[in-house]
Amino acid sequence: MTSPVIGITCAHVEEEISTYPRQYYVQAIAQCGGTPLLLPVPTSGGMARRYLELVDGLLLSGGGDVEPRYFGQEPMCGTGKVFPERDSFEIELVRVALQQDMPVLSICRGIQVLNIALGGDIYQDIFSQVPGALEHSQKIPRSFPWHKVDLVPGSRLGKIFGREEIRVNSFHHQAVKTVAPGFEVTARAADGLTEAIESSERRFAIGVQWHPEAMAPTDPMSIKLFEAFAVACRVQG
Ligand code: MN
Repeated sequence: MTSPVIGITCAHVEEEISTYPRQYYVQAIAQCGGTPLLLPVPTSGGMARRYLELVDGLLLSGGGDVEPRYFGQEPMCGTGKVFPERDSFEIELVRVALQQDMPVLSICRGIQVLNIALGGDIYQDIFSQVPGALEHSQKIPRSFPWHKVDLVPGSRLGKIFGREEIRVNSFHHQAVKTVAPGFEVTARAADGLTEAIESSERRFAIGVQWHPEAMAPTDPMSIKLFEAFAVACRVQG
């Protein structure tokens, strides 16, 4: 069976003028039989469609905050470092991918980009905007689960994990607020915050607020999400 090519978006280190994804993403895609292909933020327009010609699926990776103007807000206290070129590129990329019904898996920052691209918005800073929010920035290693999420029974995510509750890691201070039209919340933390969204109208369009790729090397449950994504990409390819 052919190995689906999965395009992985990239983060930046401004100080070193370099582009990178954490190796966890590459490893998780390889672990489920996919071929990882990095998609750097282009320096000229029109590259989103060209990139998507090369891949069978799109993985929006984690990273910094999204600039508030992309969801129609002014910057509030607590919004961190943004990289507008990455925002506009990834928003276009995911819109075009979903127009083509290409499978999309969005992780951490990725769930926020997905939701904003399709017309939703986010909390710029949950600690200042959501009273009683849990601690969502764990201080223990990335592979360690930190809080539980309740999965919606019957949802695609619920079926993938085969559970109503799993424990996940947490490295975010932003979160989905108003869910984009056509998407539903399929996982919540105990404080009510959205931890996953999906669209049942699409072949595969899932966003998770946690980092399953960082848990996958040691957690058999986490790799199930990548396996399901790879299966969807194979059908597409
Ligand atoms: Mn969390």
